[in-house]
Amino acid sequence: MSQRTLLQFFHWYYPAGGGLWNDVAEQARHLAELGITDVWLPPAYKGASGGLSVGYDSYDLFDLGEFDQKGGVATKYGDRAALERATTMLRNEGLRIIHDGVFNHKIGADETESVSVRRANPDDRTQLDDQIIKARAWTKFTFPGRRGKHSRFIWDARCFTGIDHIEDPVEDGVFRIANEYGEGEWHDEVDDELGNYDYLMGADVEFRNHAVYEELKYWGRWLADQVACDGFRLDAAKHIPAWFFRDWVGHMRDTVRQDLFVVAEYWHPDMDNLHRYLDQVDKQLMLFDVALCHRFHEASLAGESFDLRTLFDETLVAHSPDHAVTLVGNHDTQPLQALEAPVEDWFKPLAYALILIREQGVPCIFHPDLYGASYTDTGGDGDEHQIDISPVKCLPRLIEARQRFAHGAQSDLFDDPHCIAVVRHGTEDHPGAILVLSNATATEKKVALGKEHSGACFRDFLGHVEGEIFADEEGNVEVASPAGSLSLWVRSDSL
Ligand code: CA
Repeated sequence: MSQRTLLQFFHWYYPAGGGLWNDVAEQARHLAELGITDVWLPPAYKGASGGLSVGYDSYDLFDLGEFDQKGGVATKYGDRAALERATTMLRNEGLRIIHDGVFNHKIGADETESVSVRRANPDDRTQLDDQIIKARAWTKFTFPGRRGKHSRFIWDARCFTGIDHIEDPVEDGVFRIANEYGEGEWHDEVDDELGNYDYLMGADVEFRNHAVYEELKYWGRWLADQVACDGFRLDAAKHIPAWFFRDWVGHMRDTVRQDLFVVAEYWHPDMDNLHRYLDQVDKQLMLFDVALCHRFHEASLAGESFDLRTLFDETLVAHSPDHAVTLVGNHDTQPLQALEAPVEDWFKPLAYALILIREQGVPCIFHPDLYGASYTDTGGDGDEHQIDISPVKCLPRLIEARQRFAHGAQSDLFDDPHCIAVVRHGTEDHPGAILVLSNATATEKKVALGKEHSGACFRDFLGHVEGEIFADEEGNVEVASPAGSLSLWVRSDSL
């Protein structure tokens, strides 16, 4: 059984033009050989900005690049036939397919409707004006290009809790749409930032409307029926009532497959919030370890003033390892994006080594770290920036090492602020490894492996340190890490 290793096969600036699904198909064999087990694909359905949409401005969940809507048939990533081919190729190589589900909002309505709304204080959404405004709002989604194929559901104002723009009178803001659900309040069981963080953007979906609820369940079953589906990455979970996913995930496991892999994007570094959420969803899903991602970012900026022994403090993978998806970066944290918190180049190999070699958490690799990326965009300072992300040179080797050597019991040797080591002791069937890393000068670390390794010869699988070392009679070795770098020691007879 291979060890689960995710790859996020896209980033925010992946080139438009419909090439991604073909790229997935071409890479499928290579990824399987590398040791990737699960591929997280970008949202496969039509966004409001059509062929330019990254996919998070969800317009029509049932348009997988099949209908002439929003300026064309294909999505940014290709048309439906190319998607089908990509997922088939992944399946043929034994890879699992994780789809991205954007349920919180819809954008790009086809028609306006007459609505009654109340202004919400944007900084405290629980404060709603008493005054009811009659206006027009873009809340009707009829999908004229699809003409009822796959689903006849028409979305209207009863399917939404809020909107950011009204017309007649024209006004921008955060507006609570008066509907028959929740006595005028926003959803409960959402994040409490800004008083109540139900509303994020666009037309905010009303999960208390039973027809909406059933339509989103139907969509999950439908998608899994159309293309290979082994799991979901759920977008914007902190803006969606937890009770919805508590039910939806169970329904998907009952109807699609019991071992469906589900990870939610609940973008919050605070453990209390994440634990509360995990309890609310009956621990049926995993969460991205935002806190760890932030720790990597901080450690990479601080250099040798960072105490490596504290790297995992207050992280999800330390608190709740069975529910943590560990990552070094994603499409939101990459340079020039909304939650920009990139990990500096020198530290990326160290961060990836830790999430790939340690037992706890399911690691997720970010596309540019494997393939590189170049792009320009406007930064927070208003200026244009050119960004070049280089592939992490030793990443393919580390992914391979996870499958070959990340086995057996684990010892964390976190006893030096500038040099830490992780030992995987191996099993009867699989060899282990010693990972040692340093954020300062070159360092050596003494590791007691046990008498069964007496006299054994070791090499650095990454090739950062030349030559062989030998364990003494007691099975002790002294492993070295280059300055600000890492090495991974494995027994020569296991190579
Ligand atoms: Ca919401």
